[in-house]
This record gives sequence, structure tokens and C-alpha cells, in this order.
Amino acid sequence: MAGSKEIRVAPEVMIRLVRAMFARAGCSEKEASDIAERLTGANLRGHDSHGVIRVPRYLQWIEAGRQKINQTIEIVMENEVMAIVDGKYGFGQSVGEQTVDLGLKKVKAQGLALTALRDAGHLGRIGDWAERAAAAGIASIHMVNVRGSLLVAPFGGRERRMGTSPFCIGIPVRGGDPVVLDFATSTVAEGKALVALKGGKALPEGSLIDAEGKLTNDPWPLYGDVPEGKAPEPYGGPGALTPFGGHKGSGLNFMMEMMAGALTGSGCAGGPDEPERRPFCNGMLSIFIDPDRMDSGGVMADEIRSYITFVKNTRPAEGVAEVLVPGEKERMTLAERSAGGLPLAPEVWDDILASARKLGFSENELETLGS
Ligand code: NAD
Repeated sequence: MAGSKEIRVAPEVMIRLVRAMFARAGCSEKEASDIAERLTGANLRGHDSHGVIRVPRYLQWIEAGRQKINQTIEIVMENEVMAIVDGKYGFGQSVGEQTVDLGLKKVKAQGLALTALRDAGHLGRIGDWAERAAAAGIASIHMVNVRGSLLVAPFGGRERRMGTSPFCIGIPVRGGDPVVLDFATSTVAEGKALVALKGGKALPEGSLIDAEGKLTNDPWPLYGDVPEGKAPEPYGGPGALTPFGGHKGSGLNFMMEMMAGALTGSGCAGGPDEPERRPFCNGMLSIFIDPDRMDSGGVMADEIRSYITFVKNTRPAEGVAEVLVPGEKERMTLAERSAGGLPLAPEVWDDILASARKLGFSENELETLGS
């Protein structure tokens, strides 16, 4: 966040306010709590792109019928080890949890399980799902695509053909914190461009490509000019995000479309000869593995811990304090922000309060919720 401008909001205040807002919008108490805790949880772990900055957009999506409140997953096909489930455009914070819990039930019985979630609302920070599995002692892989979301140009191209398709792997660590790798396959997640557009942290050079095919860090080519009173949508601009890691990241992104878009039946980001954008949803293919079924002697658990130590002991490069393993940065940020509050660009906080007023909250109510 741009240092001098940032404000700090206590996490419990944010959770209380966001929970009240989604309850007012018609979500059940549980769904409103899950949305508030998971969005605030993303900010707490340093992923502001998938945090409370999304509140105005989620509320607009409810209004537009693009994301539906209080949904329960529908089983399309199920056997002992796998399930295809329809998220019915329900909030990802709900249908994601229901799907992961179904996968956990199956993996506990069978040692291995697969879930294919189609037509889910926004699933947020995918690390949430790997952490939920790891808390149950289960390793998991999550491949996600975003149907209808054309944001990323393939390697070598300047036109949008892909989403930001996140990839996530979580490994439980006996007696310790899990290792969780969780990233978008674009150079930056779209929400990070949104944070930059709103005066937050600047993007790395080359995060975007403009209509002339030139690399830039300006988020404008993604959003274009934002109409007065509207939340920025990343479809107004003439440019695109770039995939991370050149041709390799672009290839991984492509495969997320195959696994999470095509194999789940959810659908890929776009298709040729379609004048309208496909309706937005997340697809998620998840694989769950019970390590205890593969290794009853605890050798695997020792090996996991010993390799973490081996990597952590690497002599750091110049200017680097310490070598981190996946998930460690998030835990460090969680500790810092739990104590010091969530840093927010004032515009993000103002947008949330404006959305609350639109829902009918009075200044008195906002003062009580905010104190
Ligand atoms: P990022 O670039 O910050 O990368 C995060 C990963 O890198 C984490 O695993 C982290 O532990 C690791 N990491 C960070 N710094 C490190 C260091 N110094 N050393 C070693 N490892 C380090 O993440 P991102 O690409 O900006 O993604 C942000 C979030 O957006 C993710 O949670 C992702 O799931 C989410 N996302 C969701 C969707 C969706 O449609 N639901 C789409 C895109 C992204």
C-alpha cells in the first residue's frame, strides 16, 4: 500500500462489518460469516487482491444475479472416490467449503479422492481450501479456472485468451504449519491490479501488455476508464495481463483451463465465435491424498520436515533476510497484521462504507459496527 496514505483497520471490525453487510444482503448467518472471515483472512495473509476490496463487487454481483446467495452444491455424479458437483453460482466461500468437505469425507474413507466443482461463484484465495484439507491431515492439489474471465494474453500474444487461473498445492506437516503453494498463473492476480488502480502497491514492470503489444505496469490497459459510481471491472481496457514465467507459466495457465474448465464440465475462459462473454464462474478440480495411507511408519512426515529444514538453511542471496518455503510469507503477514491491523488504501475503506450505506446502514449503525 502507498505508505503515507494507508489506514489500518482492526480485523475484528472488518469481519463484523462485512458479516453484517452480507447478512443484510440476504446471506444466512453462516454464509455471511464465511464470506467476512475468508475475505478478511485473505487481507490478513497479505493477499489484499482477494480480500475485502471485493466486497462492493460481490454485492453488485448479487444484485445482477451473477452470484447467488445461500446455495447448496448439487451432486452431478458420485462414486466412492470422486464427485462432480454443481456450485449453482453460489458464493465460493460456501460451495467451495461444501465441495472440499465432500472430498475430505471421501479421502478419509478411500485414501484418494477427486472432486470436480463446476459453476461456482468466486472461490477467493485458493490457499483456504488447501489449508482446510491440511488441517484434516490431507495433502491436496487444486487447479482452478475462471470461465468468462478473459484477462491474460497467452505467451507471445497481445490479446486476451485466458483467466488468471490459480494453482495450489498443500502438504500437511506433522507437528507444524502446512506448506501451501498458492498463486495465480498470471504475473499478478487481477485483484493486485485493482489494488494498484486504487492507489495501492505498484505492479511489477511487465505485469501487463497494452494494445500496441508493449509491456507495462500501468493497470489502465486492463480497466480502461471507470464509469462514475461504478466499481472497476477488468474488461474495459484494450490490454491484458501477462502470464507469469514466460512460455512455462503460459502453458501451466493453459492446462488449468483443460483441468478445471474442460474436465470439470465448467467450461473454459472463452471460445471462438462467441459474441457474448461466457457467464463468470470458477471451476476447480481438486485431488486429495491421505499421507497416512501411503506411509504408516511416519517416514514421510520426517522427510517432509527434514526437507523444509534443508531448504530453510540455504544461505540467503544478497539483500534477502531468509529463504522462505511456500506458505511462510502468508503466516508472517498473518502474525504482523493480526497485531497491527489491515493496511488499506482509504479508497477501499470508503468504497466498503459506501456499499454499506447503499444497503441501508445508517451512520449510527456504521459507527457501532466500526467501533
Ligand atoms: P503471489 O504472487 O503472492 O504468490 C504466492 C505464493 O508464493 C504463496 O505460495 C507464497 O507462500 C509464495 N511466496 C511468496 N513470497 C515468497 C518468498 N519470498 N519465498 C518463497 N515463497 C514465496 O500470489 P498471487 O499470484 O498474487 O495470488 C494471490 C491469490 O489470488 C492466491 O491466493 C490465489 O489463489 C488467488 N487467486 C484466485 C483466483 C480465483 O479465481 N478465485 C484467481 C487468481 C488468483
